[in-house]
Amino acid sequence: MISTMTSKDYIEREDRYGAHNYHPLPVVLDRGEGIFVWDVEGKKYFDFLSAYSAVNQGHCHPKIIGAMTEQSKKLTLTSRAFYNSTLGEYEEFVTKYFGYDKVLPMNTGAEADETALKLCRKWAYEKKGVPENEAKIIVCENNFHGRTITIVSMSTDPDAYKGFGPFTPGFIKIPYNDLSALEKALEDPNVAGFLVEPIQGEAGVYVPDDGYLKKASEMCKAKNVLFIADEVQTGIARTGKLLACDHENVRPDILILGKAISGGAMPISAVLADDDIMLVIKPGEHGSTFGGNPVAAMTAIAALEVVRDEKLAENAERLGKIFREELQKVDSPMIELVRGKGLLNAVIIKPKDGKTAWDVCLAMKENGLIAKPTHDHIIRFAPPLVINEEQLMEAIEIIKKTLAEF
Ligand code: PLP
Repeated sequence: MISTMTSKDYIEREDRYGAHNYHPLPVVLDRGEGIFVWDVEGKKYFDFLSAYSAVNQGHCHPKIIGAMTEQSKKLTLTSRAFYNSTLGEYEEFVTKYFGYDKVLPMNTGAEADETALKLCRKWAYEKKGVPENEAKIIVCENNFHGRTITIVSMSTDPDAYKGFGPFTPGFIKIPYNDLSALEKALEDPNVAGFLVEPIQGEAGVYVPDDGYLKKASEMCKAKNVLFIADEVQTGIARTGKLLACDHENVRPDILILGKAISGGAMPISAVLADDDIMLVIKPGEHGSTFGGNPVAAMTAIAALEVVRDEKLAENAERLGKIFREELQKVDSPMIELVRGKGLLNAVIIKPKDGKTAWDVCLAMKENGLIAKPTHDHIIRFAPPLVINEEQLMEAIEIIKKTLAEF
């Protein structure tokens, strides 16, 4: 049956029946393939958000969807009450892929962050000798790790935490990209871990100084504190390396992954660590009904193979440089700054005649490219990593043309 509903009808229905916890750009998407999405009226767009870097492998990648549908016909869920024929294969694959002894599979990024926090605290009590209930974890201002009560307890963004207290104690908040603040915080003997995004994505693609991650990880090591990298957004080739930490040859003690580990096909997240850390969690102490389910296991293997086979990190590295160079050349009073790494980039927008980053995004949408502002004045540009140079240049032309309209 052909739908007679317009975009306006779809938007009104979501507004009527759904919670108002998001403020989407007014575009109603119906189909995706590679770097493109189509709205319900059939208009085609370059997707320059990639579902917040979940769709790094491109929309509906045939290999990923193939693996997912094949497994869906065979066995979807056993829970972890039983063994199954897929989980071990995935565990072996993913641990060898990232170079860790063990993986703990979860579903969303927030859950993986929660898992890492629990793991870090347990390690502190069992291995480091921190007195029970005294463990502290250092986090950075302007972080984004998700939306649970504990995670918003770590947030310095009032939109994230205000109205949701009482909060989980045990966090020390320090400025991002500030090694002397880290040094001071590390003086507390009860500090168990330092949780950090290698680039702060949601905050507006804040890239720390070269050497920050390396030095921070060394300082943690010297104090027997776990260096925990949240690579939910930066990981899986997005920044031009498999992990953003790879830019500085840093190997986190605990690695948190999500989003693109499924290529955007379903919620899959993972926490990776070596045995001396991971094995502090015993049966019954942590888990998830859906974590590591057979469909997720097969989907994640396919999604990670695509990243490797299609050399997505290399592509992101090369095209990211072109993207920044081209946008830095644009002569627009609205561009204050262009920054990023690989294909995780942001343009800081200077409002003009009352027009903001939101207006720029609306205008780009009209011209066939969708992206979303973060924090009012920043537009993140993060296309699927399967984009090629010709397509990138076409997209850049749309961005330039749009800015020229203001
Ligand atoms: N961690 C980081 C760095 C993120 O960017 C996000 C989401 O944007 C999350 C965690 C939360 O992931 P999820 O929305 O899957 O819970």
